[in-house]
Amino acid sequence: MPKPSLSQTFKDGPPSRNDKQMHNWLTAQERRFILWGLMERWPATRIGAALRVNEATVRRFRRRYWEDPGLILELGLYEMAGRAVSEEYRCLVCEEKVISTREVQRHVVSHFVVDELVNQHLPRRRKRGIKRSG
Ligand SMILES: [Zn+2]
Repeated sequence: MPKPSLSQTFKDGPPSRNDKQMHNWLTAQERRFILWGLMERWPATRIGAALRVNEATVRRFRRRYWEDPGLILELGLYEMAGRAVSEEYRCLVCEEKVISTREVQRHVVSHFVVDELVNQHLPRRRKRGIKRSG
């Protein structure tokens, strides 16, 4: 069974928290919802209201993953689709198939941050055997 895409996951609405959880940290599912909402061009106020969290919390998470796009990769937004010829993955944001771990990570992150940041955090090629100069 393929995993649901972000849109499928949230088609019935955001993850909900009860009154006791009001001051908890954001869960992974809530973080996925924020990413999805921002991609759908929802303002932070709307996302916050849907999740029942402060809009500042939404903005803070956005700022954090802009500083460290690796946070996006902790949310499991891709899955392996096959490994017959080479490792193939499916993006759970747009459902596109992408070859190689490195490329699918770049692909997923690039849904949410500008290319410059993607390249900074996930350079396209690793230089091997080249000495760093200072
Ligand atoms: Zn994608």
